[in-house]
Amino acid sequence: MCPSEAVDLDDPAAARAGAILTIDLDAVADNYRRLCAELGAVACAAVVKADAYGLGMARVAPALARAGARTFFVAQLEEAIALRAMFPVEVEIYVLNGLGAGPVAEFQAGRVHPVLNSLGEIDAWAAAARAAGRALPAAVHIDTGISRLGLPDDELEALAADRGRLAGIDLRYLLSHLACADRPEHPLNAEQLRRFRAARARLPDAPASLANSSGIFLGADYHLDLARPGVALYGVNPTPGQPNPMRQVVRLQGKILQVREIDASRTVGYGATHRAAGPTRIATVAVGYADGYLRSLSNRGSAWLGDRRVPVVGRVSMDLITLDVTGASAEAARPGAFVDLIGADLSTDEVAEAAGTIGYEILTSLGRRYHRVYRGGR
Ligand SMILES: *Cc1c(COP(=O)(O)O)cnc(C)c1O
Repeated sequence: MCPSEAVDLDDPAAARAGAILTIDLDAVADNYRRLCAELGAVACAAVVKADAYGLGMARVAPALARAGARTFFVAQLEEAIALRAMFPVEVEIYVLNGLGAGPVAEFQAGRVHPVLNSLGEIDAWAAAARAAGRALPAAVHIDTGISRLGLPDDELEALAADRGRLAGIDLRYLLSHLACADRPEHPLNAEQLRRFRAARARLPDAPASLANSSGIFLGADYHLDLARPGVALYGVNPTPGQPNPMRQVVRLQGKILQVREIDASRTVGYGATHRAAGPTRIATVAVGYADGYLRSLSNRGSAWLGDRRVPVVGRVSMDLITLDVTGASAEAARPGAFVDLIGADLSTDEVAEAAGTIGYEILTSLGRRYHRVYRGGR
């Protein structure tokens, strides 16, 4: 990696920042098209909850719409209202958290559709439709094994026995969510598909949606009528253990503040958890756990300094990390230079693995102090 290639230090905001976060909207669009290709004729929605997994919904959603996305999912009503403000009515917006996310009237006023997660929500939406004197669009979520949101078995029974409760609801999708889609060999995948088919057979005919990012790669049986990928759009590997079919989207470059020489008489960082083995050069970089550079990366993370991989030594602190740059030239390891902390050669998944977490958490933790640069997306 060329450490300074993406950093425009003529921009004063970039020059002041401790780190630069570059988000490649062309890669997001390519990832969307890649998933569409995998799906063939099946439609592909885009999940942009949690500010598009931390990457900025205001920039990411229009790029996805330009790539062809017409159906969006968010978790919360507030997110849906912000998204609706960005788009005229031709995109459909669904709120996964359902009517628990806010008042019925605000869904109607905002022209955003709830994912109805219980019989109580179905009844409330049907009542709103009666009051409005017209059918109101919604999706209905059936819990087929994740035990989190959606109609549990007994409520599915009750609905199947009294389908009239759906009167007035314009049932756009029956939806369910996989618990183990990232593990193709897990028996729960086929079991959830079986239960979902059985549920559909007992309910009014409606298009169906089951697959998240990883679910798309479980094969055509799981595609149904609409897929709902999130994380794969943002470059995280939906097929763990296999080569990543997605393009890396984020690049995080942290700025070196200081470089020092220490020897075996010295330790590094809080708790003195790292002791130099001999003469050592330590570079201090202006990124810490307050920026979402997780503390679990202490003595485990790494960075690229030019073409050299350098380890994080000592604890991650709030605003700083320390790298062992002993092997690097003084020209490369100098105050003001940038190191790559996430990027093409240090994927989100690799950082997550070192931190003992998943790519989702790395992305949604990306800090507010980073100077953000968006590339492409036209
Ligand atoms: C978050 C979420 C998705 C997207 O999942 P990814 O694994 O990020 O692709 C799809 N459906 C539901 C119900 C979700 O909560």
